[in-house]
Amino acid sequence: MYEVQNIITIDGPSGVGKSTVSRKVAAATGFTYLDTGAMYRGVGWYFLQQGVALEDGEAIAKKLEELELKLLPAADEESDVGVLINGENVSDAIRSPEMAMVASKVSAVPLVRDILTEIQRGYGDKGSIVAEGRDTGTVVFPRAAFKFFLDAQPEERAKRRVMQLQARGVEADFKQILMMTLERDKNDSERAVAPLKKAEDAVRIDTTEITIQQVVDEILRIIVGKKS
Ligand code: C5P
Repeated sequence: MYEVQNIITIDGPSGVGKSTVSRKVAAATGFTYLDTGAMYRGVGWYFLQQGVALEDGEAIAKKLEELELKLLPAADEESDVGVLINGENVSDAIRSPEMAMVASKVSAVPLVRDILTEIQRGYGDKGSIVAEGRDTGTVVFPRAAFKFFLDAQPEERAKRRVMQLQARGVEADFKQILMMTLERDKNDSERAVAPLKKAEDAVRIDTTEITIQQVVDEILRIIVGKKS
């Protein structure tokens, strides 16, 4: 199977540092950062707002037809990617822990995954990207030449999430965030379609005891080594 050199995939469970690492790898390589989680969060927000029941296949199909989802580039290396849903800017609304949970439920719906996977592949066809998510190395871009899977202890990931939320001025309780992290891991890794899992050919990096910059350096070292 030939490899696609212009795609780097970075997958892993929530709170593992994927977004920050992906943004930095994108900045260092000049590739575009593709935050696939932002898309699932956007669809989650939209279904919640429209009152779509996740058991109602017909309503899901109809609402997805009416949906126009656009990603807005992050303002800088420290900021999140934004999302427009049918013209409405939902960039802040989608970043709460509650919306993450909604996204996790919505992301188990096969039709939602089909549509978002197609959009994500479209970005890959157009240019060089760093794709970040749960299934970018396994399902979305199985031929990507550079695949990484980040992992860390759940307690460490919950601690990072709390700090991230607090930095945004959002109150966060460690125990509650840890519970939500574990629940999201369970939903994401046990779902039938495109579950969270390491691609066989992805490089696993445990980030529990190393800094973000060390993770980025390791990824860049592997990419350069493989290219030369
Ligand atoms: O990465 P982020 O925390 O923003 O993702 C929110 C949720 O979207 C995840 O918990 C997961 O359920 C879902 N997701 C997914 N596949 C992706 C990216 C995100 O199922 N590629």
